[in-house]
Amino acid sequence: MEKKETLKLSRDELRSDLKKNEFLVYMQPQIDMVTFRLHGAEALSRWMHPTEGLLSPFAFIPYFEETGIIDELDLYVFEEACRIKADWKKQGKKYADITISVNMSRVHLHNPDFPQTLSSIADKYEISHDELEIEITETVFVADTETLIQSISNIKKQGFLIALDDFGSGFSGLNLLKDITVDTIKIDKSFLHGSGSTELGKIIIKNIIALCLDLKVTVITEGIEAEAQIQYVKKCGCTIAQGFFFSTPISLSEFQEFADEYLKHALANYTFHLDGDLYSEDGNYDAMTVGRGFEYRDGRSEDSEALYFPGGPTAINVVFIPKEVLVNDSYTVALWVNPEQLTEWSSVFYVRYAMGFISIAPCADTGLLTFRIWNSSGMNGWNDIESEKLKENEWTHLVLSFNAKTNIAAAYVNGQCIGTLDNVPTNRYVEEIIIGGDNFKESFIGCISELVIYNEAKDEAFIKELYDSYR
Ligand code: C2E
Ligand code: MG
Ligand code: MG
Repeated sequence: MEKKETLKLSRDELRSDLKKNEFLVYMQPQIDMVTFRLHGAEALSRWMHPTEGLLSPFAFIPYFEETGIIDELDLYVFEEACRIKADWKKQGKKYADITISVNMSRVHLHNPDFPQTLSSIADKYEISHDELEIEITETVFVADTETLIQSISNIKKQGFLIALDDFGSGFSGLNLLKDITVDTIKIDKSFLHGSGSTELGKIIIKNIIALCLDLKVTVITEGIEAEAQIQYVKKCGCTIAQGFFFSTPISLSEFQEFADEYLKHALANYTFHLDGDLYSEDGNYDAMTVGRGFEYRDGRSEDSEALYFPGGPTAINVVFIPKEVLVNDSYTVALWVNPEQLTEWSSVFYVRYAMGFISIAPCADTGLLTFRIWNSSGMNGWNDIESEKLKENEWTHLVLSFNAKTNIAAAYVNGQCIGTLDNVPTNRYVEEIIIGGDNFKESFIGCISELVIYNEAKDEAFIKELYDSYR
């Protein structure tokens, strides 16, 4: 009883800056388990109580709901999320545009001004609304579904994302999915941990994931604590996880450290000089030849060598690059090429994805140099950027860059942009990376060197500078 009193605050108290400073926003990363991108973060409140110490939301949220001041806290957390994002943008952080999700209590859903309030906060910090997600717990949906559907659709109209939190923990979420369109479903952690049999939990998770994939909704599994759980949900088709395995909820500074370190690896770039050996510059990756007749010949400059490809039948006398070097949806690939003899459609660089491929062919059947991005899942399957075919026995620098956020691809020859395409679909899940050939056509005859794979899109100025750096 006594404890209860210390946790009770009036609205005015909570509004005072002094009290507000006792509330901290912790963040828990959401990880794409396939591409190793940082998908987003969930903002979770903590109360650094003057006498009780650091409190978990379970300790104080029930009181705040009871007294009705939870809306004050939720909006505070939302504003903090916007402020943090604005700060990241100012600092040029690579993860500045990840989705931050914020939990919202049911009381907001009865407030018709709520969507507008969210908008004005986001606009004050100039944060694009689609970088912010509102989490609504499934257990909210007990009474008054009409109001709920209306208020969710009003939040969506303002451009915010909606996540259905703790999916499967209540009783009404499933029925609601036919009336509201959500962006994300978060599968409740009780299926992985709960008191029931884990085998049954696994069957349910598998089928919820299947449902989400059918509904074309982003699905996040909560409560991932072990490697075996990652393997299982990945196998079921869920790519995004939130759980202690990756990180517990952490303070802002800890989160920034986590993200900086995480992205250093996830967004790294890899150089294969192909100048006397097949190792990546950092020594961590080793390419592999399949076939024979390779040799190192004179390179672009007097003191460099390049790998000579003798040509051959489909997928023979080619080099495989470890697929781990290309983990991001956005990428830039650069390489120097010197064809000895041009053969139709022979790729110098080729990536096979789960549902598509990339190919750079010095001379396609059109007689043109062709950068091709193909995706088999729907519209805009074929995407070609073409230019004059490469000259034999001459070095040319080729670059293909793709931005998964804008869906724009751009191709460069000797530092000059020779074409861009928009509406290019995003390919995901690299199956293999090959240089000097592919799975369709004869292999390439000639030299290749200085292959660089960046796990992000690069702009024209960067590519010009890269080209100039070789001269
Ligand atoms: P939630 O939205 O489902 O948030 C996830 C909770 O699961 C977090 O608890 C997190 O620490 C916990 N969790 C994450 N990964 C794991 C895991 O691998 N294993 C286990 N055992 N637990 C994991 P937390 O931070 O204590 O928050 C509890 C709940 O309080 C949240 O559940 C959310 O519903 C609510 N909450 C937190 N902050 C706010 C807020 O600002 N406003 C409102 N309205 N509710 C909030
Ligand atoms: Mg949540
Ligand atoms: Mg949850």
